[in-house]
Amino acid sequence: MSEEKKVVRKKIQATDQMNKIMSDYFYGLNEAATTGSKKVAWCTSVGPAELLRAMGFAVHFPENHAAMLGATRLSNEMIPVANAIGYSPDICSYLTADIGAYLKGMTPLSKAYPGIESVPKPDVLVYNTNQCRDVQDWLAWYSEKLGVPMIGIASPKNVNEVTDSHIDDVASQIQALVPTLEAITGEKLDLERLRETVSLSRQCTELWKDVLETATASPAPITFFDSTIHMGPAVVLRGTQEAIDYYRVLLAELKERVANGVGAVEGESLRIYWEGMPVWGRLRQHSEMFAELKAAVLASTYCSSWIFPAFDPGDPFRSMAKAYLELFIVRADAYKGEYIKEMLAKFRIDGIIYHDAKTCPYNSNNRYGMPQRLERETGIPALVISGDLNDLRCVSDEQTKTNVEAFIEQLEEGK
Ligand code: SF4
Repeated sequence: MSEEKKVVRKKIQATDQMNKIMSDYFYGLNEAATTGSKKVAWCTSVGPAELLRAMGFAVHFPENHAAMLGATRLSNEMIPVANAIGYSPDICSYLTADIGAYLKGMTPLSKAYPGIESVPKPDVLVYNTNQCRDVQDWLAWYSEKLGVPMIGIASPKNVNEVTDSHIDDVASQIQALVPTLEAITGEKLDLERLRETVSLSRQCTELWKDVLETATASPAPITFFDSTIHMGPAVVLRGTQEAIDYYRVLLAELKERVANGVGAVEGESLRIYWEGMPVWGRLRQHSEMFAELKAAVLASTYCSSWIFPAFDPGDPFRSMAKAYLELFIVRADAYKGEYIKEMLAKFRIDGIIYHDAKTCPYNSNNRYGMPQRLERETGIPALVISGDLNDLRCVSDEQTKTNVEAFIEQLEEGK
């Protein structure tokens, strides 16, 4: 009798340390909000977190919270609650999951971190529309609901080349946030502290880049699915020493895997690039599905979005502006195409998967002919899968499996 081989997902040992710093982060936020020891700012994921941290705010990231709702699949019950108050099922399912959860009075933080009863109540809401308009609408709902001030940056979009005038525009908008933030904390911005925070963010970014680039090795020591988890500190703790210390440990472990020829996927035979967002509620299934097919999904635009080479402590405001503008999601298709081509070459990719996320057009780069263009130019085959980041009603597991298996077979045959 043949025995079905079980896929073993190799545990990254550094995960325990990551869990500890993430736990400290969430309990710290909770303490700030419940005792008033620090003012709390909510910030969009590529908003001016460095400025907020340097001004002494405890910083909560609603997108991180929404991703937790997705990963725990609680989003399924929350999204309809927001739909019922007029937020369309077609808009960002991070937004609808998060607002729905607020209305239902629930948070996945309570289960993961006993003693935390709710998301931390904000003193200010800070957005940057560099990624999308939804983040502004999202925080606007809380601003009205909680009577909390909302401030932010209206960013240029579809930028091909980032110019000085773009940078001047965004830098002056970041500087214009300072008086409101000073009025909330009651303290003046300390420029030296800002420089220090920008420097810490820069170091975090460089280490995160090194972590992701270990996957240029064959076999790759880390997959996209691992990286979506391990990017947590780069998102919520950038600008802190804790994130830097963590990535040093993770990097050492991955380098050791490379030195010993240990791959994240046993018997790696194909190397896949993931373009778009993860399906948070299917991370495990997707990770196992590809591993069974000996296909390592090892690089992505999404996880690389928390690499900000522009940060410069010598010029904090302008370099923050440059970093937030150079982001992939801000850029025009011509730039995006060149970027993806470079990534395909760097990671020696055999095939590319585009996740067409129903509720996030901004992270779905398959809708204006990109897969066909890049396939023509590089000869690297592409597959588009339909799904969503958080709304599992848009995900068909059977169809995904069938399409992925056929794609992998096609890649095998073409090798
Ligand atoms: S980029 Fe997409 S997923 Fe992120 S907040 Fe905007 S719409 Fe939502």
